[in-house]
Amino acid sequence: MKLLLLGSGGYHPSELRQTACLMLPSEGIILDAGTAIFRVREHIETSTLDILLSHGHLDHVIGLTYLFDVLYGKEVDRVTAHIESTKIKPVQEHLFADVLFPVTPPFDFAPVEELKAVGDCQIRTFPMEHPGGSTGFRLDWPDRSLAYITDTIASPDAEYIEHIKDVDLLVHECYFPDGLDEKATLTGHSSATNVANVAKQSGAKNLVLVHVNPIFNTEDPIGMDVVNDIFPNTRLGTDGMEIEF
Ligand SMILES: [Zn+2]
Ligand SMILES: [Zn+2]
Repeated sequence: MKLLLLGSGGYHPSELRQTACLMLPSEGIILDAGTAIFRVREHIETSTLDILLSHGHLDHVIGLTYLFDVLYGKEVDRVTAHIESTKIKPVQEHLFADVLFPVTPPFDFAPVEELKAVGDCQIRTFPMEHPGGSTGFRLDWPDRSLAYITDTIASPDAEYIEHIKDVDLLVHECYFPDGLDEKATLTGHSSATNVANVAKQSGAKNLVLVHVNPIFNTEDPIGMDVVNDIFPNTRLGTDGMEIEF
């Protein structure tokens, strides 16, 4: 199965990275709706699209306002944005306020807690620590599995680890290199060594790092040596990367 990293950055777009958006074209599943969602258009293969939102921060939902263009001329019967139930109203009222974006594209919101499956993909959701809270995702098919963990604090006692055990592919945020751990905890984000240790502890087979901090606009914003020493099967996610799993 193919996972597309359409946007591998956090906070704001940079010359290298748009903000959070991943896609499983064959399943019609999109993970987060950051600025990179404009790239979904050329990869649509299905008549339904399910957008799984980790939370309501702008770098993960602003792309909902781009859906008119994403869907233009496409034969898509249903688009559903799944987000924690308590966040539906605030996103509707604020992102689609008359003063900000006065028309709502053709999609519906649904409580992510009620999402159990898309086709033969079983979906598990779980709450994570982040300002305002975020949702983690584990997707299981009969023969493979994927976890998407973003906007949370990686640590050896993080409760979400129990949900991502032995996953084939772990996509995990890594907003900070080592040395900025205090800042990571303060802002509800993760740093390099902690993410590598979570991957190791979970028994994941492969790790891909996303939600990269745009201020570190270099080829090695995380310190990949540090991560690879602890968890060798790690790749730094980049926009346009295709991952087979
Ligand atoms: Zn974010
Ligand atoms: Zn956030």
